[in-house]
Amino acid sequence: MKYMCPVCGYSYDPELGDMSIDISPGTAWEDIPDDFACPVCGLGKEAFYSI
Ligand SMILES: [Zn+2]
Repeated sequence: MKYMCPVCGYSYDPELGDMSIDISPGTAWEDIPDDFACPVCGLGKEAFYSI
């Protein structure tokens, strides 16, 4: 399952992580800190939805 930002379309894939924001491959969405913000537009984690 991936998680998508509803504003800009950025998506997070737990298998890949996102090394541009220091999230290692294999990091589950649940394990990402609650203060995570979209690296593109800054939207908060709670606004993301699963796809
Ligand atoms: Zn975004």
